[in-house]
Amino acid sequence: MDNRIAIIGGGFAGLTAAYELGKKGYQIFLFERAPELGGLAGTFPIEGARLERGYHHWFTSDTHITGLMSELGIGERVMWIPSKVGFLYGGKIWNWVTPMDIMKFSPLPLLDRVRLGLTTFYLQTRTNKIAAYEKITAAAWLKKYAGAQAWEKAWQPLFSGKFGAEAERVPLLFLWYKARLRLGSRKGINHEVLGYPRGSFQVLINALANAIRKQGGKIFCNAAVKRVVVDNGIARGLEFADDENSRAAGTSARRASTDEYARFDRVICTAPSFVAQKLAEFPDAYLKKMNAVKYMGAVLLILKMKQSMSPIYWLNIADRTIPFVATIEQTNFLSPDVYNGKRVMYVSNYLDPASPYFQMSRDELFAAYLPALKKINPNFSPDWVEEFWHFKEAAAQPVMPLNYSKLIPAYRTPLRNLYLANTTQIYPEDRGTNYSVRLGQIIARLVDEDVSRGDEWAENLQMKERAQ
Ligand SMILES: Cc1cc2nc3c(=O)[nH]c(=O)nc-3n(C[C@H](O)[C@H](O)[C@H](O)COP(=O)(O)OP(=O)(O)OC[C@H]3O[C@@H](n4cnc5c(N)ncnc54)[C@H](O)[C@@H]3O)c2cc1C
Repeated sequence: MDNRIAIIGGGFAGLTAAYELGKKGYQIFLFERAPELGGLAGTFPIEGARLERGYHHWFTSDTHITGLMSELGIGERVMWIPSKVGFLYGGKIWNWVTPMDIMKFSPLPLLDRVRLGLTTFYLQTRTNKIAAYEKITAAAWLKKYAGAQAWEKAWQPLFSGKFGAEAERVPLLFLWYKARLRLGSRKGINHEVLGYPRGSFQVLINALANAIRKQGGKIFCNAAVKRVVVDNGIARGLEFADDENSRAAGTSARRASTDEYARFDRVICTAPSFVAQKLAEFPDAYLKKMNAVKYMGAVLLILKMKQSMSPIYWLNIADRTIPFVATIEQTNFLSPDVYNGKRVMYVSNYLDPASPYFQMSRDELFAAYLPALKKINPNFSPDWVEEFWHFKEAAAQPVMPLNYSKLIPAYRTPLRNLYLANTTQIYPEDRGTNYSVRLGQIIARLVDEDVSRGDEWAENLQMKERAQ
């Protein structure tokens, strides 16, 4: 059996692929550039607990990840908690959970509210719409059927909350899929529940890492891969960045001390596409697919406060004079007791990584956001904030173009034995930890199948693909 598998990236896709292949007896080497595992769902310490750097929860449809929790013996940690979603519009917080909440949203004329409700219901009940709904943008469809005002006052702020300046370009497919999933996460018409693991997402990250090590897998953090060594169209191994930790990881992953690089039989890359394409030279057709998606960056400021800002967990901001798109008050989801009685709130922005807010330092961002926080709660005072953290992620949210089903990069790259498994391949669903777990499972199955089919089969496949 081709035994040695390298995995680039220790987020949920990489960790799951490592775990699944380890179960089948492969020798796993996982390399993570950051000091800790978890990728976009990684956590940091706060008040004796752990908290995700970016707010995280699950929907009831996220069965791949909750199934994995059960398999790892930590299923009882999954909690389902009622969500409280709101909308800041015209200086007022509006509830935004039930159909009745939408009917009460008086900034929209009554007829538009009815259209807004009916179009949402219509989307939720459609099936098999991938082909039709990937051809048009949600903005165009909503303006036509829900009305221009409904787009401007309700939908546009919601889309900006997730896609920033790309809001107008998002395919209707995204909204359709999300509407169906959200319907599935409801317990009755007036009640939505969201999932969260007791002890934070770190619990699952640790359980996966422990299981991989128990299987004999090796995990290296602070280990940045610099290059996939490709010879004659076939991936042969990895070279590492020049810093001390990465070099040390490369040295200990070598088969023989005389090897020039760390040799592997197969390599799985879970890094974002703009990183992956720097690690190896891909043919133009594959590169074009890798570049079809635009990544939005996320900037997060996390405030530890003496007092609560509002009763809402997820507050969409529809006021464009406010320089962020949502606040997520974690302690309106979990009890403040988890964080030693403190109130914890994310201030969230999705931005192009070139934008000024993405470039700001922690203190600059705090200063820029402070005046706007008073618009959420006029009593807010900066001395409520006891401590704050700043995180940013360049590959936070892929924005798929129209007709993306024809542009998704294949898991098997044109370089034999090199696989790509990242958030740009999650479609038509929106990216999320559940789908990264599913992706890790898919890639592990594919690698195992390819190993059992042997070299001749792979050679034929590669020749066929090159001829196309
Ligand atoms: C603000 C925010 C909120 C979110 N909210 C939710 C939510 O509520 N629910 C939910 O389920 N999901 C949520 N997500 C999405 C979820 O976090 C991601 O979809 C998921 O974690 C992606 O996992 P991944 O393994 O596919 O990719 P990543 O987590 O991006 O993992 C890739 C890893 O590769 C590493 N890497 C890159 N280059 C190299 C290199 N050269 N060498 C070695 N390592 C490298 C990176 O450091 C990273 O750890 C959110 C994301 C963000 C940013």
